[in-house]
Amino acid sequence: MAATAGPEIERLIQLLAKLPGLGPRSARRAALVLVKKRAELLDPLTAALADVARKVKVCATCGNIDTTDPCTVCSDPRRDASLIVVVEDVADLWALERANASSGLYHVLGGTLSPLDGVGPQDLTIDALVARARNDNVTEIILALNATVDGQTTAHYITDLLQDANVKVTRLAHGVPVGGELDYLDEGTLAAAVRQRTLF
Ligand SMILES: [Zn+2]
Repeated sequence: MAATAGPEIERLIQLLAKLPGLGPRSARRAALVLVKKRAELLDPLTAALADVARKVKVCATCGNIDTTDPCTVCSDPRRDASLIVVVEDVADLWALERANASSGLYHVLGGTLSPLDGVGPQDLTIDALVARARNDNVTEIILALNATVDGQTTAHYITDLLQDANVKVTRLAHGVPVGGELDYLDEGTLAAAVRQRTLF
């Protein structure tokens, strides 16, 4: 497509188009809003981006991304340090936090075991997780991994490694989503929901 703006604005559009949920059309629209609202939007956004770019770091304890290390979650004294929720990615940690699902700490694995893609235990933070699980204060490890083959393979692998650690290893329930209709569920989900039924 022929450029309709100067190279600086075209570059801005190209970069915006790399963001999730933004295609070339919506990136162009977003860029136009930014340049039109320079004082309210473009200048503060520029400052916020520079600020985050300067300060962002990975938490050495849990693998969360934040502007402090230890991260905000790890350094919160109200957190239940006896509980570690294991997730594949920072996005999962943020989703659980949005849902207010746990008062515990987290551990980001950085992916799942995937022999086909050449991802082995050494590519994930599994050793660090085992070390944390052996801490006397930790009583439960919650495996909040995706309900995919790789996610479940990883869950089994970690459970085996934690056999002799003095912790309870649990995983998320599989079943009927909140607001879900049985007729629309796939057979695997429906069967898992019946197997994992709970007392009413
Ligand atoms: Zn942390």
